[in-house]
Amino acid sequence: MKLFAIISRISELTHCFFIHVFAINSRSHSGGNPRPGEISLAHHGVLFLDELPEFDRKVLEVLREPLETGHITISRAARQAEFPARFQLVAAMNPCPCGYLGHHNGKCRCTPDQVARYRGRISGPLLDRIDIQIEVPALPESELLARGAAEPSAAVRERVARARELQQARQGKPNAALAPQEIELHCRLDAAGEALVRQAIARLDLSARAYHRILKLALTLADLAGAHRIEAAHLAESIQYRRAFN
Ligand SMILES: [Zn+2]
Repeated sequence: MKLFAIISRISELTHCFFIHVFAINSRSHSGGNPRPGEISLAHHGVLFLDELPEFDRKVLEVLREPLETGHITISRAARQAEFPARFQLVAAMNPCPCGYLGHHNGKCRCTPDQVARYRGRISGPLLDRIDIQIEVPALPESELLARGAAEPSAAVRERVARARELQQARQGKPNAALAPQEIELHCRLDAAGEALVRQAIARLDLSARAYHRILKLALTLADLAGAHRIEAAHLAESIQYRRAFN
């Protein structure tokens, strides 16, 4: 049995009611009747995968279906079953096999080829479905210990709750759940926005899926800012989150 990751399911009402350490192989690849696996246990919660490139590639590719549809189909010899699996995927990985690429201590000796192979374990189609990809550089000690005036979490929470209410009132569902034709309706762009997106599609070689996801994220950024429509700045920020692997 292989220990895979931690799922934390966050209740709509309480902060956190269940943290579950799981072993995905025991249920996903064994015989017998189809049963809901860990991906379904994370339904309406967060599926956190640490050290993403260390997962079996086949397991990672399984994530593509639920990330797109909110369901997972499990097939056993003669039977097939569909389970709900609408979760928020959060994943973490190192920048290179040793973990020190770009670190101020200069310890990394990984070759460009090793780095490319390590990052290549995450397939393009899976990356395509991850809306926010950010590099978090290690902070030098002085910066780590410096006390900045950060925005309190309670204020952030309030802003997020307001944005969610707005989305419910506008379209009866969160932005992430918008279908393509709804995206066209709710994510209208002005001329500057159109130009920006066209440029990004060409430069970052974006798929139609990535394009739709960029629009949905830009709409969320607009909602969080209390803007009435997607502005160029929201779009630019949304596109920016696709750059880490480019
Ligand atoms: Zn390294």
